[in-house]
Amino acid sequence: MNQDEILKLFTDSGALLKGHFKLTSGRHSDVYYEKFTLLKNPTLATKLCKTMADLLVPAGAETVVGPTTGGIIIAYDVARYLGVESIYAEPGETGRVFKRGFSLRPGQKVVIVDDVLTTGRSIFEVIDLVKSYDAEIVGIGELLDRAGGKVKFDYPYFPLTSVDADSWEPQNCPLCAKGEPLTQRGSRKF
Ligand SMILES: [Zn+2]
Repeated sequence: MNQDEILKLFTDSGALLKGHFKLTSGRHSDVYYEKFTLLKNPTLATKLCKTMADLLVPAGAETVVGPTTGGIIIAYDVARYLGVESIYAEPGETGRVFKRGFSLRPGQKVVIVDDVLTTGRSIFEVIDLVKSYDAEIVGIGELLDRAGGKVKFDYPYFPLTSVDADSWEPQNCPLCAKGEPLTQRGSRKF
């Protein structure tokens, strides 16, 4: 699938919403990707995961790691295509932790995958977690980069598609200035 086809999948599935949203990061935006509208449809989601897996094959990962919650679905299906294992990084007291007996050994080749990137916070947390095991990060895959490539990683980065969606700190939000009612989206507690 090419970038346009992937973006069309988000739009056609109803996963792209327009309005005035508080994002997981706390920033405000006029677009929101309700990724679970797409991820709840395995037939569509697996097409994206296949595309991501194809991009990640050369990285030679032994394990796919995804942050909860959407990242679990992506990691599982990408790992299925790659023929490797998938594990999940869950919220800890600070940052991310492995539970359920999950672990990595030093030097283990890992790709990190997630669904929608806004600030990259989840991915940075997983990077810290993987590094704490001295495992080797060989790639990062993202279904949709809504930061338009502005978030940089020190590892090979494979966003399936990239859009430069505006978002603002609440005090600078033009929609707040217009008094537009705010909808809170995203999974983090505030
Ligand atoms: Zn606002």
